[in-house]
Amino acid sequence: MSISALAPAATTRQAAILIVDDAPAQLGAVRSMMLDQGYQTFVANSGERALAIAQRARPDLILLDIVLPGMDGMEVCRRLKLHPATCNIPVIFMSARTETDDIVAAFDIGAADYIPKPLRLAEVCARVRAQLQFRRTSLSQQQQAERLRLIVDGMDEGLMVIEPSGRIQYTNPACDRYLGYAPGELAGAALDDLLAPSVAQEYLELFGQGAFDAAGAHCRGAREVLIRQRDGSLRAMDFTLTPMGDEQPLFIALLHDITHHKQSENALQRAALLDPLTKIANRRHFDAFMDKEWQRAIRSSQPLSLVVLDVDHFKGYNDSLGHVAGDACLQQVAMALQSHALRATDLAARYGGEEFVLLFGETGFEAACALAEAIRAHIESLGIPNPRSPTSHWVTASLGVATIVPTQLDDIKEFFVQADRAMYAVKEAGRNGVRALQTGAAFAPIARAIGS
Ligand code: GH3
Ligand code: MG
Ligand code: MG
Repeated sequence: MSISALAPAATTRQAAILIVDDAPAQLGAVRSMMLDQGYQTFVANSGERALAIAQRARPDLILLDIVLPGMDGMEVCRRLKLHPATCNIPVIFMSARTETDDIVAAFDIGAADYIPKPLRLAEVCARVRAQLQFRRTSLSQQQQAERLRLIVDGMDEGLMVIEPSGRIQYTNPACDRYLGYAPGELAGAALDDLLAPSVAQEYLELFGQGAFDAAGAHCRGAREVLIRQRDGSLRAMDFTLTPMGDEQPLFIALLHDITHHKQSENALQRAALLDPLTKIANRRHFDAFMDKEWQRAIRSSQPLSLVVLDVDHFKGYNDSLGHVAGDACLQQVAMALQSHALRATDLAARYGGEEFVLLFGETGFEAACALAEAIRAHIESLGIPNPRSPTSHWVTASLGVATIVPTQLDDIKEFFVQADRAMYAVKEAGRNGVRALQTGAAFAPIARAIGS
């Protein structure tokens, strides 16, 4: 007997061994050997008793004689394997029957090992130790798998396991939730059906290149994608793909919901285009819009009309009624302007202070004159008292209009200057009026004064 075979088993918890044998001498010898090893022991001299102890005490291992009075060891093992509480307990047979058929039959019903009698106790110890070690390893693997499952099930990020063909093998609950699928419903679906075709194709090409080596690292890193939900709508998500490593040809995709982030980004973008006081477009938005419409008008040879509007005697308004009332007045004027800029090719904006601008795409000279006059009349009709105005009892405005069919020879700044000049001409002529002119390389200038 070697020393190592008898060395006490290194266990974190004392393992419990059930020894089943009807020969008292044999039972005693094995038991004392197991006690020497530091194991806890239970003993039984019949199959029935062995089953009862196994159920109650749940030993870590059973040493089981085959020939027993009444129920034999084979039947005991069969019954242990049938019961969920005992089916995972390793069973080592001890038997004088060493025919191949007996040994094969024992393994067939689930035996972990088979030790021939007469027993060599050191061998029994070594086999018991090996089985306990194996059981500990497989239990800890099960625990790790269970822990991993809890993490994956509880995480806020969506997770997919994807095969190189693009077939989805697994999705976690967060992924199902984000995309509106029932648990397991996405298994077997194709990645192409969820992503925009161009993006999906890109990933499939990566898979095809065998992106499992170090070079595959370039498919890591989050990118923003639109994923199709079950109801057909698209959801913005950060998508991170990582090869699983090892020799497993699988990829892990992580999905991070960025809907809220997108919404606030869009809200910020919208806010950056609005004038904070009047909530109509600001100068930055207007300039960008005007550039676009100008180019479009060049391409389509359609007329474009610009209205520049300045509130009359507004300094006096502020001085007499206060700045807060002045702000409210500007808001009312802005709303009035907005109500005249209704088409997608129209835009009203606050250009600064008490100066406003309106652009009317695809709008010729006559229509622009009519619109400007309607706006002037609208502001006057608001009936906002302006006590110190020498022009009127009410708040009024002066409007300059320029209409152009722009060509490559025209200059957008010059167009603006023309409208501005027309507005100043109204100021000089007494305010509360409209002056319009048709300008540009393609036309002989026409000027018109409208209103009071
Ligand atoms: P005119 O008829 O020649 O245009 O005279 P005006 O008094 O309107 O012209 P001026 O440019 O001298 O005065 C503009 C005034 O507009 C001065 C400023 O106090 C006021 N103003 C500019 N921005 C705001 C604002 O955001 N709120 C308020 N309440 N007043 C403003
Ligand atoms: Mg003014
Ligand atoms: Mg002004």
